[in-house]
This record gives sequence, C-alpha cells and structure tokens, in this order.
Amino acid sequence: MNRVTKRTWMMAIFVALLLGGMAFFAGEYALKADRWVVATGSPHVYNNSNLGNGTVVDRDGVVLLDVSGNRAYSDNAETRASTMHWLGDRNGRIQAKAVANYAAILAGYDKVNGLYNYAGETGVESLTISAAVQNAALRALNGRKGTVGIYNYKTGEILCAVTSPTYDPDNVPDIAGDTSGKYEGVYLNRFLQSTYVPGSIFKIVTTAAALECVPDIESRTFTCTGSYEYGTEAVTCERAHGTLDLKGALAHSCNCSFAQIAQLVGRKNMEKYVAKYGITDTVSFDGVTSAKGNYDIKDTGGASFAWSCIGQHSDLINPARFMTFVGTIAAGGKGVEPYLVSDVTRGEETLYTASGKSTGRIMSEATAKKLQQYLRNNVRTIYGDGNFPGLSVCAKSGTSQLGGGQKSNAMFAGFVMDEAYPLAFIVVVENGGYGSATCVPILSQVLPICKAALDSRN
Ligand SMILES: [Zn+2]
Repeated sequence: MNRVTKRTWMMAIFVALLLGGMAFFAGEYALKADRWVVATGSPHVYNNSNLGNGTVVDRDGVVLLDVSGNRAYSDNAETRASTMHWLGDRNGRIQAKAVANYAAILAGYDKVNGLYNYAGETGVESLTISAAVQNAALRALNGRKGTVGIYNYKTGEILCAVTSPTYDPDNVPDIAGDTSGKYEGVYLNRFLQSTYVPGSIFKIVTTAAALECVPDIESRTFTCTGSYEYGTEAVTCERAHGTLDLKGALAHSCNCSFAQIAQLVGRKNMEKYVAKYGITDTVSFDGVTSAKGNYDIKDTGGASFAWSCIGQHSDLINPARFMTFVGTIAAGGKGVEPYLVSDVTRGEETLYTASGKSTGRIMSEATAKKLQQYLRNNVRTIYGDGNFPGLSVCAKSGTSQLGGGQKSNAMFAGFVMDEAYPLAFIVVVENGGYGSATCVPILSQVLPICKAALDSRN
C-alpha cells in the first residue's frame, strides 16, 4: 500500500513537471515567438544582424534598401549616406533597430502559420522620412558633426532625422585608420542616441514654467547690466541688455533676466515643470528608445541654479525628445510623439499602419499659445523671416558652452506655425559656434525641401 502511494506520487510529480514544462513553453511561445523568429541570427529575417527580407522605401516610394535578394541600397550615393543610420550597414556596426522592428511582419511571419512563403512576393516597409529632405540636411551640415530632426507635429511622422558624420555603406572609408577625427562617433545615431548641453534653447522651458507659475510674470521687467551677481559668482551676458520684459528677455536671450526669472520660478517649480514637460524623458518609437536627458539641481548655489535655467550647469537634452517638446508647444500643449515607420504592405495587403501616440497634455493651451507668440517674435525680430520665405517660423537659438576651451555647440529649435506645414525641428551642430549664425542657414536650406515634400502629398 505504502509503495503504491509512493509510486502514484512519483507519477503525479512527473506529470506535473511535464504539464508545467508544456505550459511554460506555450506561454513563452505566445509571448516571445515573434521575438525568437526575429532574433539576431535568424537567417529568415536577418543578414549580418540587419533586416534580411523585403524592401524599405521613403515617404514617396523611393527605394532605400532592397533585401529581397542581395542587400542593395539606393543607387544614389548621397541617399545611401543620409539614410544608413536607419537602415543599418553591411557589417552590423550600425543596427537598424526601428526598421527591423517590423522584420517578422515583413518576412511573412505570424503566430499561427509561422514563417509564410509568399511565393517570392516580399513586403514593403514605408518610412516617414524623405530621401530628398535627408540629403538636403546632410548637404547643409556639410561635414560638420550634428543632427537635423524635423517631424510633423500633427501626425508624428518624422520627415528628417539625419546624423553626421556618416558614410556610404557601398564605399566604406578607412574609419579605423582615420586620424583627422572626422569619423568620431560615426556609428552613433546622434538624433536618437546623443545628449547635448542645450544652452539657451532651454530658456523655452524656463519661460513656459514662468508663464505657468508666476501669475504676474508678463507685467514684470528685468534689468540687465551685463552681470547679475551672487556673492563671488555671477551670471553674465555678452553685453548689457537694459530693461526687458519676459518676451524681450527670451528674444534677446538675456542671461541676467533669466537669472531673475529663475528666482521667481524657484527650484521646486523648475523640477516640477521639467518633469511635466518630459524634457529629460526618453522618447520611444518603432521599438527604439532615445537617450535620456539630465536636469539636476541638487547641489546648486544661486548662480549654478540660474545657469541650470539657462541650459548650462549639468543640463543635457536629447534631440528627438526636445524636438517633440517644441512640437507639443506648436500643437497647443498636447501633441503627438514622433515615429519613423508609416506602414508595411505586401501586394494589396496592409500588414501594419502607424498611428501617432499622444503626448498627453503637458502644458495649458494658454501657455502654449503665449510661447508660440514669443517664439514667433524671436524669428520676426531677431533671426529674420527672410530666411524662411513663405513660412511662419517660431524658434529659439542656443550657443551651449562646453568648457575646456571647446568651441560652443550651435543649437536651434522651434516649429512652423502654418496649417499646411506643421513641422517642428531641432538643429544641432557640434562645436558649431553661435546657434543662430550656424543653424539658421542649415534650416533655411532644409525647410523648403520639407515644404515641397508636404506639397507633393496635398
Ligand atoms: Zn542680458
């Protein structure tokens, strides 16, 4: 009797283990099968850890990459260089994670049927970027390191996300042997993976916070003598700006005024609004996630706290995230997050269609409207509307000091306030010097191409 009970128990344990194992496998299969099939090394989907099946096209149907046979990039060398950081290279040094996010769908995989053979008919993955815009931006950067990001703040479509330096994947230069430094960080997608000291583009954040939490902020004035002192430390301007209101302080990018505005906003509110606006958050789309920014005022004194509100101190922003922030201002305080892949099709069949994810409301509509007016005033009175014919551009420049004798980074962020051209942008040129002097000419070359890209759809 005793022995029989023992055997029964043993059997029960084995059966339980078997069933448990099967349940575990079924669960894992249900949850992870699509990840297994696209795991790096899966020969159906990848070659050299990049997409290995189907065709990738730009927003106008221009073929950027054909991997139905051998891996073939665009026949235009400039397009190959300007889009490679999204498509991946031949050696797997640059991984096309966003594009490869749809590799399983593109390869004809589904959970029930597994990998399907569509009798040679491969899928087409359409990106939101325009090869013409990418090329214009790369040409405008002209070998300088940095990024140009532009997206439609109503739909979320990224029209431009260029990173420089880059190279032609069909004509790979001797990167390892280069001593000039021009390929430094070449494998990095600066739009997505880099963070930068924002400099004065961060004044948009401080202005927004001031509008939201200092009730009489618009009726106040600030005096700039060229230096605003805190004991032995000081916040300085390149010249004395005299007396300015909030709008004027932003237009003239007056550090001394912003030191006073920072005091009115206060530390708690700066932390609160930086968090509410998502300035240091990551941005995620198509299976990729951007680098995280930084805003840390824990150990700041009066002057260093003021500098943190001017985009210096230890502030860091990611270009994709900051572009989304200014786009949200343009959209009235509640916007759409950017994305790169618009759809995946096979023949007549649509296998995937993107939809822009809402940012949620990050600021009141009144604050957003006021910022639109202020940033519009910047371009009208300081940067010059003549640089952007036919477009109502709203923007703020930044010249972020890096210390250590390095030339400043040039920054420019803003948006177009036209119904037909809902574009938000960020331009970064590393060691580019003055923000407006360096970035305005770049943007003035790229925006007309964006305009044409949108017109061709209308
Ligand atoms: Zn000043």
